[in-house]
Amino acid sequence: IASRETKPEPSTVTVKSLKIGGGHIGVIAGPCSIESESQIFESAQRVKESGATGLRGGAFKPRTSPYSFQGMKEEGLKLLQAAGQETGLATVTEVMAPHDVDLVCRYADVLQIGARNMQNYTLLEAVGGVDTPVVLKRGASATMDEFLLAAEYILNGGNQQVILCERGIRTFESHTRFTLPLATVPYLQERTHLPVVIDPSHGTGVASLVPPMCLAAIAGGCDGLLIEVHPDPTHAVSDGPQSLTPEAFDDTMRRGHQVAAAVDRK
Ligand code: PEP
Ligand code: MN
Repeated sequence: IASRETKPEPSTVTVKSLKIGGGHIGVIAGPCSIESESQIFESAQRVKESGATGLRGGAFKPRTSPYSFQGMKEEGLKLLQAAGQETGLATVTEVMAPHDVDLVCRYADVLQIGARNMQNYTLLEAVGGVDTPVVLKRGASATMDEFLLAAEYILNGGNQQVILCERGIRTFESHTRFTLPLATVPYLQERTHLPVVIDPSHGTGVASLVPPMCLAAIAGGCDGLLIEVHPDPTHAVSDGPQSLTPEAFDDTMRRGHQVAAAVDRK
């Protein structure tokens, strides 16, 4: 179903003012985790002022250690929804378990399947059965074929609004948190009609590397970006080192528009 042979023209996912694919670059920005009402509202306001049309924020957090902050769960979803309503931004948040899909759909505009769950087939089938758009993140060790077949589970369940997200893979290199292959964008666009977005935050793990990767992804024809932005990265409960300040995000958006205007992205 994902193949370009089945459907030659690129698919577009539209939610509120967030448009991803078919020539539109959708920017989804916000903190790794929803931490408090003031934190998510300030994040929403700032990313909206800089031109983002989507707001990200995790309420169910897949943490490497069970002792790390696990997210605000339903309370966080309520805050995210309120921040989305206040700003008009489309909200994007992770769902980790099939039994939470209905709950997360009640609050969020777009579901995120995290890298760790890319091959959780029960979860993929569960999100395939709803009509809320899904951002599917590439597993850190998944091949392109495995990634596309994971998308196929969702599409085959009936949900046609799938966005593919390259978020970096695990390699021998340890200077960056993951290794971010930008060739994923043109490669997948040749094979599939689904929109392809880049997450340079998890892809690098280093805030200073995020803006150049955003610009490169735009020049390379990406359909969108998923970027971690925090009002106070040094005090973030998760992923602070890779989170942009609102000022750095604003500067990146300004430069991103220049790149998009300068390059024929076809
Ligand atoms: C996230 O978006 O905060 C996240 C946990 O991403 P990933 O699943 O790519 O690690
Ligand atoms: Mn994160």
